[in-house]
Amino acid sequence: MEETAKELEATNFLEKIIEDDLANGRVPDGKIITRFPPEPNGYLHIGHIKSICINFGLAQKYGGTCHLRLDDTNPAKEDVEYIDSIKRDIKWLGFDWGKHEYYASDYYGQLYDIAVKLIREGKAYVDSLTPEQMKEYRGSLTEPGRNSPDRDRSIDENLRLFEEMRNGVYPEGKYLLRAKLDMASPNINMRDPALYRIKYETHPRTGDKWCIYPMYDFTHPISDAIENITHSFCTLEFEDHRPAYDWATSIDGIEHAPHQYEFARLNISYFVMSKRKLLQLVKLGIVDGWDDPRMPTISGIRRRGYSPESMKDFVGRVGVAKVESVVDYSLLEFCVREDLNKRARRVMVVLDPIKLVIDNYPADKTEMIEADNNPEDPSAGKRLIPFSKELYIEREDFAIDPPKGYHRLYVGNEIRLKHAYYVTASGYETDSEGNVTVVHCNYDPESRGGTTLDGRKVKGTSHWVSVKDAVSAEIRQYDKLFASDNPGAATGNYLDDLNPDSLTVLNGAKLEPSLLSAKPGEYLQFMRSGYYMADSHDSKEGHPVFNRTVTLKDSWDKMKQKMGLK
Ligand code: ATP
Ligand code: MG
Repeated sequence: MEETAKELEATNFLEKIIEDDLANGRVPDGKIITRFPPEPNGYLHIGHIKSICINFGLAQKYGGTCHLRLDDTNPAKEDVEYIDSIKRDIKWLGFDWGKHEYYASDYYGQLYDIAVKLIREGKAYVDSLTPEQMKEYRGSLTEPGRNSPDRDRSIDENLRLFEEMRNGVYPEGKYLLRAKLDMASPNINMRDPALYRIKYETHPRTGDKWCIYPMYDFTHPISDAIENITHSFCTLEFEDHRPAYDWATSIDGIEHAPHQYEFARLNISYFVMSKRKLLQLVKLGIVDGWDDPRMPTISGIRRRGYSPESMKDFVGRVGVAKVESVVDYSLLEFCVREDLNKRARRVMVVLDPIKLVIDNYPADKTEMIEADNNPEDPSAGKRLIPFSKELYIEREDFAIDPPKGYHRLYVGNEIRLKHAYYVTASGYETDSEGNVTVVHCNYDPESRGGTTLDGRKVKGTSHWVSVKDAVSAEIRQYDKLFASDNPGAATGNYLDDLNPDSLTVLNGAKLEPSLLSAKPGEYLQFMRSGYYMADSHDSKEGHPVFNRTVTLKDSWDKMKQKMGLK
């Protein structure tokens, strides 16, 4: 895998473009300037991580600068909550825009002046077509459009109408300002695109100063030009808009013409990643907000326990291409596990407990057993865990009738208790329904630390928690939010594919005492079960709540083994 990631890196076509531009003196002062330009109409998702890594990552790599620009052209859908979350999420990923925080709304004055100039030069006009007429006049992919009857309105009248639009004389939808380009263009985006619309909305930044707002396709390229962006990277759906981008950045008087380059969006199986759908999940109450740990939002995966490093590794492995594809969900989880394996503190948690009583162990004794915090990282140190006569072990670690190949505890069989002693089961108790309630065993006092004097080996190792020292907690076992790898493909409605088992809450788990003070942000591995993190909303001192980040293993690991990958 390591090699694949490097190879992809080496063939990244955006880097080739930059290197070529730098080598040929096409970049002023040899400093590239990129930007990450979200519309503040929702929270960022994993797809955006790709764009963030491209824009900030390439600027870093080539000694340039990356701007954060909020493309806030639609006040009806935008909110300061979104702006704040976007900034928090980019910082969490470890990127910094420094002083380069910009807003398209900062340029409303300049955009207005450019629009007026276009009208003066006869290159833009105020149109009164209704939306239905507009559609009719636009033509189709196979038929050219027709000129609006308003296209020949006089310059003076256009100037007057546009000013009146700005002054709030007309209702929404009455007029549009359009560029006079070419209604017969094979590219529909060039058929007299709208430049300004009337909208009576309070803007998060400009308040009620404006009641006309510039369109995205007009604002975005000019904002890039104003900021001296050298390389404007965006996703493939903007390819058809590139002629409109080039038109806008070549308007007389705009000194700097940036170039737009498109790359493929990141899509992941089992995920929906459009802000519209994510907003719907929040609004319908299907999830517990934008940062629900099942959401593919950056705030959701942070709360769930994914690390920023694993996400950067993931987008690095996916690479940058010009062809749309869907990345397998298991690659994402593979990257999460790889990273957490290195950084997570190992702890013992019994999710579905039964009691194990060591009959030959003194009743009032407690020993402190030393355990590694992380065998992958000696610098993580060690901790002491209390061990006593009564322990909890997992229900599945004991069998009355062991199936073939079962190496855990059954009467007569010996296993190792992790970090502690060897024990051999001697009997068990059941309730009236025949469920095991207590398992009895004897321990070998000479096997402390998990090794015996005679060197005999056992095949099973169980984790455990001392009954009198155990901590209780709520544990949220998260699974995929959708049950289909392509939500909505079968019925047309992605909501039909919600996974009814995406969250299972466990209240009976028993945890080692160090977890009483676990903090959100601390990466944990519950040994033999998965990676977990304390929940940032609901976990409280004395009442911990844990989210399952990811299970320990899955099909990707098996596939990897089969393919002989490291
Ligand atoms: P969505 O379609 O999910 O609502 P968007 O394209 O409207 O997202 P923006 O806020 O406009 O979201 O996105 C900011 C930048 O992130 C844009 O340059 C966009 O191309 C890029 N981007 C959005 N989604 C993805 C994705 N899935 N993969 C890579 N880049 C993306
Ligand atoms: Mg967009």
